[in-house]
Amino acid sequence: MAVRITESCTNCDACIDECPASAIVSASDSPLSRAEYTYVKPEKCIECVDAAVPKCADVCPTEGCIVWDLPYVAEHEDHFVGNDAYVIRVHKKLGLMSPSVSPQPWRETIGLAQRQSGVSVGEMLKLY
Ligand code: SF4
Ligand code: SF4
Repeated sequence: MAVRITESCTNCDACIDECPASAIVSASDSPLSRAEYTYVKPEKCIECVDAAVPKCADVCPTEGCIVWDLPYVAEHEDHFVGNDAYVIRVHKKLGLMSPSVSPQPWRETIGLAQRQSGVSVGEMLKLY
């Protein structure tokens, strides 16, 4: 991934149009069943590696709402596949777009320990 939107999301949807990877969808468009808030598709999130900060966290008005998740790479296949927190897209020809099939760019400056503990993107990058 990437980043993950947590339950403190207010569904303002301000982040959706800011995402350069079209990775964010509103709760009503979420692939999760009974979704209650805006969702980031981990198989599409590129962590805005070409920007100074992730666009979603930069625009989000809710402090601490968006947190770091693990990098979307083969090493973390088990974290994303078979996890109820995600629904990974199935491509017609390529099949499941898992981390090993379709790895995504990630910020190496964000450590694994911080990602595993779900540190707030905004707090870490001092966006508040
Ligand atoms: S901008 Fe923040 S509060 Fe608004 S939908 Fe996105 S994650 Fe939720
Ligand atoms: S970090 Fe960037 S690519 Fe990922 S969901 Fe946020 S805006 Fe989209």
